[in-house]
Amino acid sequence: MNVIPIHTARPQPPGANLPLDTLGRHISDLRISVTDRCNFHCTYCMPESAINCGFKFLRHDELLSFEEIERLARLFVAQGVKRIRITGGEPLLRRNIEQLIEKLASFPGVEITLTTNGSMLAHKAKALKAAGLHRITVSLDALDDATFRHMTGVDFPVRDVLAGIDAAGAAGLDPVKINMVVKRGANDHAILPMVRYFRGSGHTLRFIEFMDVGTANGWKLGEVLPSRDIIRLIDSEYPVEPVNPKHFSEVAKRWRYKDGAGEIGVISSVTQAFCSSCTRLRLSSEGSLFTCLFAQKGHSLRDLLRNGGSDAELSATIAGIWQRRDDRYSEIRTDNTAGLKKVEMHYIGG
Ligand code: SF4
Repeated sequence: MNVIPIHTARPQPPGANLPLDTLGRHISDLRISVTDRCNFHCTYCMPESAINCGFKFLRHDELLSFEEIERLARLFVAQGVKRIRITGGEPLLRRNIEQLIEKLASFPGVEITLTTNGSMLAHKAKALKAAGLHRITVSLDALDDATFRHMTGVDFPVRDVLAGIDAAGAAGLDPVKINMVVKRGANDHAILPMVRYFRGSGHTLRFIEFMDVGTANGWKLGEVLPSRDIIRLIDSEYPVEPVNPKHFSEVAKRWRYKDGAGEIGVISSVTQAFCSSCTRLRLSSEGSLFTCLFAQKGHSLRDLLRNGGSDAELSATIAGIWQRRDDRYSEIRTDNTAGLKKVEMHYIGG
């Protein structure tokens, strides 16, 4: 059995005059949710049960316009943001999303990425690339329709998501990152079939530990399959070795197949917390700022934005929110914290 070494991340100095939070972290990643709606009902995010009990999605006039998002994003970039990820709900449900990508892609030196469930990607990939999108991540929790249905709560053919991944590759958005949330007893049997399918494809398959996000997914620690067990399972058939992170706040721990068949990754919020290098902010589709995926409340920027707030006032508000930040939820998670009234993931994106 190979000894599984632990990765080492090198801290990066923040830029001059950029705000630091109470744990010395700077801002470099912004996730922008452009809608709280989704056409899937993934059990770990927005299960059917949560939707059927009179859940109200945001009205269109409550959503930030693309112009408002662009203005705020420009202010975040001035505070150190280097990577912007567009999320949802399902971001491709937001009409003319390419127009927003074009605006954001005009920021020099900023990487624009997007996370999607892939259901509309086959038709959209070319336009997203043409609009300036740099990279794309597709959520896919199994290859067989039965397990996929069990995880997503909808009857949607996996082949259409795979066609979306192929279209993204053909459009030049490769390597595509494929995110698989692993829930013990639900889809862990699908790990090796996914590995076999994506090995040698040039795309990067990543495994995400089942997390206690939001309030509706009925999270239990017993349903978490630790990343080290996932790596052991894969290593027993396809030997792997660790790869150093690309940057300080990279979420996934990278591994590569020793036979050169590509890379995989694991995102271990439950068993290997990475809060100490968390430089992420999340902006909801109605303009509320969240300093952690497991936050219980956000800070509205929309009100200031729509009541004539100046760029200086907005920037000071953003910096102030960050400088008061002390989030490290994954380091302090317990069975008791799992039940806290946390923000829903489909409202702020993963
Ligand atoms: S739990 Fe919160 S602070 Fe920790 S890594 Fe996740 S988003 Fe960052």
